[in-house]
Amino acid sequence: MIEHSEPRTAEGEELQRRFAAMPKAEVHVHLEGATAPDASYAIARRNAVELPVASLEEWRRYFDFRDFPHFIDVYRKTTDTIRTTDDLALMVAQFYVDQARQNIRYSECFISMSLHLRRLSAAEILDALAQGIERGQTVSSSRVQFIADISREDPHTQSAVLDLALRGQRRGLIIGIGLGGLEKEFPPHLFHETYARARDAGLHVVAHAGEAAGWESIREAVDELQVTRIGHGIRIIDSPEYAAEMRARNVVFEVCPVSNYAIGSTPIDKPHPIRKMVDLGLRCTVNTDDPAMFSTDMAAQYQLLAGQGFSWDELWKLNAQTLDATFLTPPEKAEYRREWEDFAATLG
Ligand SMILES: [Zn+2]
Repeated sequence: MIEHSEPRTAEGEELQRRFAAMPKAEVHVHLEGATAPDASYAIARRNAVELPVASLEEWRRYFDFRDFPHFIDVYRKTTDTIRTTDDLALMVAQFYVDQARQNIRYSECFISMSLHLRRLSAAEILDALAQGIERGQTVSSSRVQFIADISREDPHTQSAVLDLALRGQRRGLIIGIGLGGLEKEFPPHLFHETYARARDAGLHVVAHAGEAAGWESIREAVDELQVTRIGHGIRIIDSPEYAAEMRARNVVFEVCPVSNYAIGSTPIDKPHPIRKMVDLGLRCTVNTDDPAMFSTDMAAQYQLLAGQGFSWDELWKLNAQTLDATFLTPPEKAEYRREWEDFAATLG
């Protein structure tokens, strides 16, 4: 797990205060990964789900990720504790509370629909989502929109997830589809058709790429799936030529610094690739990915980058870029941008 060094200077303390207080946006966060191990343990007990551990203590230790496949295994087991519409609605409502607590004013959140469809019907999932949104909105002023995520290791679920997303789109509950899970073994081209249908229907499309596999995986996601936003994409630094193309095409990178260290996508003793990505002129955003699973939050991402030499101005620009990269409409963005500007004005 990543250790965050506490700021020792007055300047460091002021930065920490700003990271917590500034209005933020998030475009890459998973509902299931935002659920704490203690919460999933309680849900598992309530639903009499068998876990590969004997105690809460062991379950917490289970989240010490060894590598990417181990992380996916833990992620799937956590999601498997969800058995009822009530579990799902509660998770959604809790997500609103957690985002508001961090001053994340607007989020686009993945739900691993391939996994939930094993236990619940599409109608049940959408009803639970609607309930969770309603509850969340009554206790939080943060706004959230949802993206139906396909687990690539279950490619046979892709059309069911798309159908669910289309029904959700009609009800104003879902805005897009995503692609997560085992990247190396299940490349983007397997999902070509589903993405074409999603785009035709006006759904937004995103995909994880260049996290657990090389930069070529990013090229395949862009070419095959025509995504304009890439989840992680940190391997882009291995091809400055393709990075130049990504820059010219204005493709967005959903960077999640703590996540990459926690899973081992970035070695713990190396600076995070976002430094090179920003220097290459790429359009980067800052996100938590799975905050509860990695015991982190959004302010900690900025704190980590500040510790690696990013200036306040650079970090503020990343925060503004994250809002800009959302799927909000231009008038909606303009409204939030005023909040960002109001905060900047308080800094003098
Ligand atoms: Zn992710």
